[in-house]
Amino acid sequence: MTAYVGRFAPTPSGYLHFGSLIAALASYLDARAKQGIWRVRMEDLDPPREVPGAQDAILQTLERYGFEWDGPIERQSERHEIYAATVARLMQSGLAYACTCSRKQLEGLGGLYPGICRNAQHLPQKAAIRIRVPELVYSFTDRVQGTFQQHLGREVGDFIICRRDGFYAYQLAVVLDDAWQGVTDIVRGADLLDSTPRQLYLQELLGLSQPRYLHVPLIIQPDGHKLGKSYRSPPLAANEASSLLLRGLRALKQHPPQELTGATPAEILRWGIAHWQPQAIPQCLTLPEADLC
Ligand code: GLU
Ligand code: ZN
Repeated sequence: MTAYVGRFAPTPSGYLHFGSLIAALASYLDARAKQGIWRVRMEDLDPPREVPGAQDAILQTLERYGFEWDGPIERQSERHEIYAATVARLMQSGLAYACTCSRKQLEGLGGLYPGICRNAQHLPQKAAIRIRVPELVYSFTDRVQGTFQQHLGREVGDFIICRRDGFYAYQLAVVLDDAWQGVTDIVRGADLLDSTPRQLYLQELLGLSQPRYLHVPLIIQPDGHKLGKSYRSPPLAANEASSLLLRGLRALKQHPPQELTGATPAEILRWGIAHWQPQAIPQCLTLPEADLC
């Protein structure tokens, strides 16, 4: 029996960058420090945005950086039947409904869906599927970020679980897959902090248990932009594995010793597991500070 199951869930719409390295590193060290399982799941839900070759490149980078995962790589592209069955069930129970609003109709609403199609009786061919949210606050205690709460009705609105083009939404897939894989601990980037209340709501609706959460610091560029796929964050170079792992450890405030300079990725990860101190992780990092790491 394993009490801890963690995972890293990259999206192949780009290559791994320093921000994703920190998420992978924290998730890996947290799992291994607790003798836990660590899985890798490919979140390939969005073929139009997938970069050809990114899946292989991501796995190769993880290998070069010394990460060892348990079990096979699961792919969300192979789980459409499960997602479809769940969407159908939510539709039947009236919790989800078809939305035919055009992008234009929803412009200027700050992403908050005003409920236009909530009571429509039609079941059109081409429609997005939205889930009804309650007028309630969902909150949880993150291991690094502390208490985080959101009023789903006022701050999020009914959200999409299946897109008009037929592809399933991340919010739905992530909840189903984490439960299916028995994930007990989610360690990921803080950009997903404000997705978490939606995921808690879906877990509740679907009768799934709630994992623990740890959102690692988001890396903010000097201009205030987060370091992500859409900005010029370079892909992780294979020949810099050791130095970037050390930088990652420093960004997580783990204080690796000087002697690790020149060590192999495996040695650095071994040190990280033995000295893992999740309570030292900072809530956010700005790039100049991250650069000094
Ligand atoms: N696939 C998501 C991403 O790459 C991460 C999902 C998660 O960790 O819950 O941003
Ligand atoms: Zn609508």
